Amino acid sequence: MPGTIPYDPENIFSKILKGQIPCHAIYEDEHTLAFMDIMPQAEGHALVIPKTPSRNLLDADPTTFMWLMPTVQKIARAAKKAFHADGVKIVQYNETAAGQTVFHLHVHVIPIKDGVPLKPHGGKMEDGGKLAHNAEMIREALKFVS
Ligand code: 5GP
Repeated sequence: MPGTIPYDPENIFSKILKGQIPCHAIYEDEHTLAFMDIMPQAEGHALVIPKTPSRNLLDADPTTFMWLMPTVQKIARAAKKAFHADGVKIVQYNETAAGQTVFHLHVHVIPIKDGVPLKPHGGKMEDGGKLAHNAEMIREALKFVS
């Protein structure tokens, strides 16, 4: 797209996709990958990314969303079940001005419990053991949602 900053293949999520850095994966199919956010804003905060490279929604090929959103829905259902959440917040930032910090398109899936405030975006790094446990909880719940 004219005026768009080019995709940088050295971004963290691109490296996760290439297996160059680890993640706590929850779900993977031909077009998408879901994994735990390393600085969760709530228990069970996950990210869903397309395997096709784009910085964000603004430069993505529209067909990307055809594969991305069904995975977002699947992870939202599973995370809500796994963490007995009352709701699920879906967030997606586009460019620095909007709060984006990693420039590979991604959707945040954040289970919400009534009365529990969200932690700050990009706040504290979670313990690896805790992330592994939460990933397992969502993987288990995935067996029971469509
Ligand atoms: P953005 O601000 O771009 O919407 O969100 C990027 C998200 O990625 C943040 O919530 C941040 O916690 C998460 N994040 C940043 N670096 C890593 C990483 O190396 N691994 C994982 N799993 N998440 C990351």
